[in-house]
Formats: sequence, C-alpha cells, structure tokens
Amino acid sequence: MCGIRVFHIASVYKQANQRQGVESDGTLGNRFLEIIQKGKKNNDYKFALARFLINYDGDAHVKYETIARGFFKYYYYLHKEKLKHAPDPTSKLRVIQEFKKYISDEKFPKYYYEDLDQRELESKEVKSCINGIVENGLHNVIRRFQETGKAKHGEVVNGPFYRFRISDGNLERLDLEYGIFITSDARNYFKRNKRVMESTTVCEWSRFLEGFNVGVPNILEKLETFRKPVRASLYEFRMPLKNAFGVYGDNKPPICFYCEEGIDLNSARLSPVDHVFPYDFVTKNELWNLVYACQSCNSRKSNQCIDKTLATDLVDRNQKCVDKEIKSFKTSISNIGGFRKMEERVWEHFEVLKSRRTTWSRKIAKKLKMKGQDSA
Ligand SMILES: [Zn+2]
Repeated sequence: MCGIRVFHIASVYKQANQRQGVESDGTLGNRFLEIIQKGKKNNDYKFALARFLINYDGDAHVKYETIARGFFKYYYYLHKEKLKHAPDPTSKLRVIQEFKKYISDEKFPKYYYEDLDQRELESKEVKSCINGIVENGLHNVIRRFQETGKAKHGEVVNGPFYRFRISDGNLERLDLEYGIFITSDARNYFKRNKRVMESTTVCEWSRFLEGFNVGVPNILEKLETFRKPVRASLYEFRMPLKNAFGVYGDNKPPICFYCEEGIDLNSARLSPVDHVFPYDFVTKNELWNLVYACQSCNSRKSNQCIDKTLATDLVDRNQKCVDKEIKSFKTSISNIGGFRKMEERVWEHFEVLKSRRTTWSRKIAKKLKMKGQDSA
C-alpha cells in the first residue's frame, strides 16, 4: 500500500520535472557537482575550467586561447598572492610555471586582474603566458574533466559538457586547432544556473585551497576578487585610534606607527590610517590591524610585509588598548576570538606574508622619511 503510494508520488514528480525540462538538467547538474566536489584533486585546474565553462558566453566553438585567457583571469591575483595550487609542494604545475616565466612583480606591479589596462593585457608577456598555457597547461584538464576515459589518436571525444579532439600523434595532447565545442544542453544549463554554479564552484575551490594554504586569510574572497575592492572609508577608525593614544582633545599630533614622527592631520591629503597587514592580504578593516601612519610611510610601505619589531609593536599596541579599556578595540579583538587569538593571527600573518613580500621596517621608514624631507 505504502509502496504504491510512494511510487505514485515519485512518478508524478518525475512527470512534472520532465515537463519543465528539469530532469535532464538535474543529471547534468549532478554530474557537474560530482566533478567539482569529488574526483581527483592533484591541483586546482578543474575549478578554473569549471568557472570558465559556467561564465562563458560566446559561440559553442571555443578556441583554447579563449580558455587560457579565462585561466589567466582566475589565476592572476592568486599568482600575485603566491597561493599554492596543489597539495603536493613538489608538483610543477604548467599553468603556474607559465605565470612565473612571464608575470613578475617588476613588470606587473598591479595586483588585480581588472586593474590591468588594455596595453598590459595585449603585452608580449601576457600573450606569451596565454600561449604557454595553451601549449602546455590545458591538455590534462580538458581531457580528464568530464571523465570520459581513454581516447584514440585523432579521435573526437564527446562528453556531457563539451567535445574535443585528441592530437593525431600524441594521446597526451589535444588537437589545439580543433578547440572545444560546448554542448547546447550544457550551455543552457550554465546560463540558467550561472549564479548557483559559480558560487558552488568558488566555495569548493576555496575549500580545496584552504587545505594547504595554511594561514592565508580569506581565500574565498581572494577567489572572488578581480578588481581592487572598494574599501569602506577608514574615517570611522580615526576616533578610536585617537582615543587610544590620548591625542584627541589636546594639541599633540598623533604619532606615525612606522617612523614615530607627528602627523599633521590638517595637511594630510590621504587618510592617516593604515592597515599594518595590507588590505589586499587581509581584505578586511579591523581595528586591531589599523594604525596611524604619516603620508610618507603610508604610501611607501604600500603592500609590503612589516618586520618582526613592528609585528611585536602591533601586539603591544593592541595590548595597551585593551588595558585602557577602549571599547572599540576590545570589540575588534573579541570579534576574532580574544587577545591570544589576535596575537596568534599577527604571527601567522607575519610568517605567511614575509615569504611573499618585501620587508618594511621602522629603520626603512625613518630613512625614507629623512630623504623625502631633504629633497623637499
Ligand atoms: Zn611615518
């Protein structure tokens, strides 16, 4: 009795789904999710390919160069942040190698993909990088993504999402002239479910990277970011910082955390508040990480990593503010789990960042400030 009823409901549900065309989508969607959530994860290429497919909006026939441009966009900031892309530290990833070959801090000081202008995107370095990704980086991920099994020389392989061709001479290589053809089912599916699929993919990618990028904050936000985020004004932090150092209400100017000279707030063009661990790394405004900084130090330090002395001083500064019972500091510190956690985080950020950025110290701050004044 009960069994029949269940059967009945199931078949009505199935019919309803078929009418709305959800049935075949469901299968495609499940297949996609399985690829993203399960399966081999030697590196993160499949997430980049998944994102490309979800967001691609052109012809069914796609050139490998277009896919490589997609990879370039997704990896640019991650490369700048020196994120690891594979759990095995010895694995030499081709895509990453191409980035290392052509995209250096000296040639590309901009941090975010969307801050690159047309001239930079058309530069010979970017072109070579894209070319390198096509030549060396895409073969495995395109062949394996759909788990369609082994193919023969010169064979066209059909999968649920796209078809592609194996090179005549080499099973390991794609026919680069052929490109891929995205199936119309897949295109329709991605079009309708773009937002959900994109956020699922980004979440899974982030979860994967977190496993071996220990201590890097806010990986999810790093994956979502292509443009310098519009920061909330730091103005609201001026008052708590002033209160903390007793400069509010008397005539003493606030002191720069880096060079320890007074800051003339009236002549300051920019906000005198600075993120000790740079914003492009922490992606959050948190009081425990904010200090007063003069214009000279603020702009010269930029996104460098502080040295050990400054890190120690930051912990001490926060300690003082907690001791002084300054409410906004106590809130900021309790938000991240208390004083010990703040201290842990300072050293964690310090360790992660010092291997990735140049060093900014009080000595350098003072020296540069002196020079600046001399030449002025
Ligand atoms: Zn300064």
